[in-house]
Amino acid sequence: MTHDALARPTLARWLTGPRVAGLPAPLIGGPAPLLSFEFFPPRTEALEAQLWTCIRRLEPLHPRFVSVTYGAGGSTHARTHATVARILAETTLTPAAHLTCIGASRAEVDAVAARYWEAGVRHIVALRGDPPPGEAYIPHPDGYRYAADLVAGLRKVAAFEISVAAYPETHPQALSPEADLDNLKRKLDAGATRAITQYFFDAGVYLRFLDRCLAAGITAPIVPGIMPVSNFAQAARFSAQCGASVPDWLARMFEGTEDDPDIRRMVAVVAAAEQVRLLQANGVDEFHFYTLNRPELTYAIAHILGVRPKAG
Ligand SMILES: Cc1cc2nc3c(=O)[nH]c(=O)nc-3n(C[C@H](O)[C@H](O)[C@H](O)COP(=O)(O)OP(=O)(O)OC[C@H]3O[C@@H](n4cnc5c(N)ncnc54)[C@H](O)[C@@H]3O)c2cc1C
Repeated sequence: MTHDALARPTLARWLTGPRVAGLPAPLIGGPAPLLSFEFFPPRTEALEAQLWTCIRRLEPLHPRFVSVTYGAGGSTHARTHATVARILAETTLTPAAHLTCIGASRAEVDAVAARYWEAGVRHIVALRGDPPPGEAYIPHPDGYRYAADLVAGLRKVAAFEISVAAYPETHPQALSPEADLDNLKRKLDAGATRAITQYFFDAGVYLRFLDRCLAAGITAPIVPGIMPVSNFAQAARFSAQCGASVPDWLARMFEGTEDDPDIRRMVAVVAAAEQVRLLQANGVDEFHFYTLNRPELTYAIAHILGVRPKAG
């Protein structure tokens, strides 16, 4: 094939195809985005060591807060408390404790919250919670029924900062997208000051959700939840359960990397970096990372966003 024959199709495409401008470069010297990191409480000593390696690696990035989840059905109560207490005692980080309505009376949930306050914890992520896998949600007869009720209850316990969950693709059990948005507004009106979203992969999904929030009169920060995916097959299974759609292009990016963890991790950084850069270019300046207790992907993506370690 001649040089000419090779060049012509490319030139033809350039003449007729779409012209796509690159993402704007982040402002040099501009403010770095605010970050928060989510961890889960470890079940074994090995997982405990992994969590603490993760915490120590991410600590110099000075997140605004780090949050610790509460297991399905409230099953990790003691471990969540122990992890939050250790973060408070041994690090410079500000912990937020997740707390759910599930399987406990109001008095019991209030007592857990009061213990957090006494221990010095000032931030709660208030959730309804999920029942153990395969079981339907049945509110405790004396319990908080929904997260909005829990937020109102927490306000009476102490002056906590309260974050709640939001669902750009609608919570799977919601009566309708409008009802779910009304519910988010109720949670904020009850006293929450921030929503953190369920993770999503398509930046457009989140940006359209922001438009809907604004139209509904919501003005509190809606912080995007970012899940850096390295095990695509596992993430796709989990996403089906929690109502997060997996775009075909993401599946295509990971296709063929099943047996190649190194390449998979590189693909993972590129996929998540594209997502957060697109959000950043659209003015998003706060991000919440689902770290899965592994620091590398989160650290790399935070670095790309312009976040650098600070001493002390
Ligand atoms: C950032 C984040 C962190 C999370 N952390 C945890 C965790 O640590 N532990 C855990 O177990 N789970 C956690 N989850 C999962 C969460 O508990 C589940 O998604 C749960 O199913 C819903 O919790 P919620 O707080 O959003 O519930 P709610 O806001 O109470 O909403 C639950 C459902 O009920 C509907 N609803 C609300 N009020 C009413 C009403 N009055 N009448 C009819 N329907 C109503 C809503 O539309 C929604 O479909 C987290 C989720 C997110 C996004």
